[in-house]
Amino acid sequence: MRGFAWLALILAFSGAVAAAAPASKKIVPVVKSDAEWRKLLTAEQYRVLRTEGTEIAFTGRYWNHHAKGTYVCAACGLPLFASSTKYDSGTGWPSFWQPIAETNIHEVTSTDYGIRIEVECARCGGHLGHVFDDGPRPTGLRYCINSASLAFVPANKT
Ligand code: FE
Repeated sequence: MRGFAWLALILAFSGAVAAAAPASKKIVPVVKSDAEWRKLLTAEQYRVLRTEGTEIAFTGRYWNHHAKGTYVCAACGLPLFASSTKYDSGTGWPSFWQPIAETNIHEVTSTDYGIRIEVECARCGGHLGHVFDDGPRPTGLRYCINSASLAFVPANKT
């Protein structure tokens, strides 16, 4: 009987854990050909998102943008950063101290200009920018993102 009691307890506990766990948000990749991306994106978006380009500082649409809402991937619409985590880094690029969800971005070590951590959209693989460890609290991170990689959805439209 003791064995059954333990088994019942374990089953009850695992059931409770399963019920409490949030539904997993699986990201289904968006895959398009180079020709399709060229058609879908502006020349600047294509250069930044698909060829790991960087826009010139202080020229992008969002470095000095302060509205409340969500920054989504300009290529596939995946939510990437909340305006509540945006701050003025003084760099001329939109800067955030945290992504909207760890699952929505990929971090890749890049060696093109020394070792940097590149940030990509987890759904379409589009290049967003880089992450550095000189950001503000609470994370100490600075996600330095190109405006060209982002589209903004105002808070009242989400
Ligand atoms: Fe994307």
